[in-house]
Amino acid sequence: MIPFLDLKKINEPYEIAFQQKLKSVLESGWYILGSETASFEKAFAEYCQTQYCIGVGNGFDALVLIFKGYIQLGKLKKGDEVIIPSNTYIASILAVLHADLVPVLVEPKLETYNINPDLIPEKITSKTKAILAVHLYGQLAEMDQINEIANQHNLLIIEDSAQSHGAVNNQQLTINKFKSASAYSFYPGKNLGCLGDGGAVTTNDRELAEMLFSLRNYGSQQKYYNTYIGVNSRLDELQAAFLNLKLPNLDSDNDKRRAIAKRYLSEIKSDRIKLPFWDFSDNHVFHLFVIRTDNREDLKNYLNENNIQTMIHYPVPPHKQKAFSEWNNLSFPVTEKIHNEVLSLPLNPVLTKTEIDFIIEILNNYNW
Ligand SMILES: *Cc1c(COP(=O)(O)O)cnc(C)c1O
Repeated sequence: MIPFLDLKKINEPYEIAFQQKLKSVLESGWYILGSETASFEKAFAEYCQTQYCIGVGNGFDALVLIFKGYIQLGKLKKGDEVIIPSNTYIASILAVLHADLVPVLVEPKLETYNINPDLIPEKITSKTKAILAVHLYGQLAEMDQINEIANQHNLLIIEDSAQSHGAVNNQQLTINKFKSASAYSFYPGKNLGCLGDGGAVTTNDRELAEMLFSLRNYGSQQKYYNTYIGVNSRLDELQAAFLNLKLPNLDSDNDKRRAIAKRYLSEIKSDRIKLPFWDFSDNHVFHLFVIRTDNREDLKNYLNENNIQTMIHYPVPPHKQKAFSEWNNLSFPVTEKIHNEVLSLPLNPVLTKTEIDFIIEILNNYNW
């Protein structure tokens, strides 16, 4: 079986180094907010070309804390509306809700799966204060256009970069260009993953950074003195140590992902398969390679019978989830079509040439 994602294989090359890190963290006697976290924050900020990186517990918390930070700073307030794509992973929407803000869903483009900027202006009201741009499947949203809209309407731009570590827009990380804040997840399956939960916020906004260093640690700047109503959401020292070992290989891992994507895009031949759009720039890091077909169940079964594991990202659109029952009757046709047709093929840095050859061959042999 070609597994969709073999995390053991992805982490195997680091095994000895991980064990050495475990030993050194263990022996340091300091397990929360120590030197490994500080050095990862410095390295990741540098990697993202931003002034600040704040390590937090996971990607969801990174998003929630950005919103809470802006609320604390008076730039957002309870009940403000946040524009968000209707076909994102549930965490983006939950983060808006958990910060007492109101998500306003906007349809994506069928080709890119990302938010359709042309549809944003009509959703803007006097309560709209921010756009949450999600870089779904690893491809940057259309940030130039989103930035223009945000400037016109004086909106904050927050990025959900949980799937897009290292994706760049015209040689710059988007956060650097648009001067707001970006949320990352280091969940094991992401392009940069640790061995548990982990996350970070990157930003160039000094006020926000200082607020977040405090909010993630009970709203405290000085131990046992609490300035804000904070939370406990800190990037673990041990996870930071593992991430310090993996970060130097992120760019080459992303290059491997792009090379596989290029092969899939040029060698998979079928009118019944819609391949993902990519302009071949570095704006895509192929966290996922997502095709569309009107014959998904059959194709998935066929691939499975041929020992190729695939996944569906995601089977149910957020507005059809039970948790959001008040949205269940809303209609987002593009989102629904995407959720009915998408299928993710294996694509990761440890896939071998033989496996890639095999996946392409099996797909091209499918009897439609
Ligand atoms: C993974 C993910 C998150 C949440 O990250 P966690 O670390 O799992 O909390 C948020 N948004 C998107 C788009 C994701 O893929």
